[in-house]
Amino acid sequence: MDHEREKKLVPNEIKEDKKINLRPTKIEEFIGQTNIKSNLKTFIESSVRRKKNLDHIILYGPPGLGKTTLANIISYEKNVNIHSTSGPAFTKKGDLVTLLSNLSNGDILFIDEIHRLSPIVEESLYPAMEDFKCDYIIGAGPSARVMQISIEKFTLIGATTRLGLLSRPLRDRFGIPLQLEFYQPNDLKDIICLNSEKLKIKIDESASYEIAKRSRGTPRIAIRLLKRIIDFSVVQNAQTIDIQVVLTSLKQMGIDSEGLDEMDRKYLNCISKNYSGGPVGIETLSAALLEQRDIIEDVIEPYLMQRGLVQRTSRGRIITKKGLFHLK
Ligand code: ADP
Repeated sequence: MDHEREKKLVPNEIKEDKKINLRPTKIEEFIGQTNIKSNLKTFIESSVRRKKNLDHIILYGPPGLGKTTLANIISYEKNVNIHSTSGPAFTKKGDLVTLLSNLSNGDILFIDEIHRLSPIVEESLYPAMEDFKCDYIIGAGPSARVMQISIEKFTLIGATTRLGLLSRPLRDRFGIPLQLEFYQPNDLKDIICLNSEKLKIKIDESASYEIAKRSRGTPRIAIRLLKRIIDFSVVQNAQTIDIQVVLTSLKQMGIDSEGLDEMDRKYLNCISKNYSGGPVGIETLSAALLEQRDIIEDVIEPYLMQRGLVQRTSRGRIITKKGLFHLK
């Protein structure tokens, strides 16, 4: 299914996001998530004072909330190197061994989508995380021998959309679990203002607040909407982005007052009309909407649930009164 067409507000990273680096590098520039920031400051300072490495960290929460950004900030604040990779990038055990043996003392290894590591690679992470050792296979076939090699002490930072996707043994090996929450409109407004400054674009207070309210609590979406609205304003020859430009652009993009796009409304309509409001199972919804289960669970549902438009029960999904009211 053509995703970009159907679902405008997918918070997964796309090429365009990488074009201009809008990522904050210092902890002070990271807006919102006050609890996480203050905890991290404490852990970083304690590790500096004790001259110890940071414990392994797992960052979890929906896509686009700042997990990768935080991992990079931690490396900046600790003044150590960061090696970034992702779960699906490891095709064999050897890939991990090569990476681990190249780390220097204190380095950070960042593994995005860590829940997608293959079981074999995941198992070889255990001794590395615990004892800073890993198995190395010499030779092949019957004459192959396993040697254990020591590696430098490193900090693993894992990122995942849902902590429940991680196997228990892996989850237990992270000393610091940090859950990122959806952002409040005021924080998103600050992120939008900061980004428009970096992009050298003038934007009104009310205009940035309106974008913030419609960004599904997600910085990546806020930034992407801002960029699209800039496109509309350029074509309209607007010198400043004001509330009128924002409202017409959002309407044009099919984004409603709650920040929902066509796909979200299709999802709500499907439960409401095809299944009399639910409960309806995720597999059924996935088939009815021609959409992958992962996308529904990681991208569409978290925000709809947070807004109280839909409920997840043991018997399936149910549309709430608020959800029904929104469709009207
Ligand atoms: P994730 O890894 O959780 O998918 P990212 O770290 O890639 O999310 O963040 C997505 C985008 O949002 C990045 O461009 C980043 O600059 C921006 N961003 C995320 N969180 C913040 C924040 N707290 N303050 C400022 N910008 C942020």
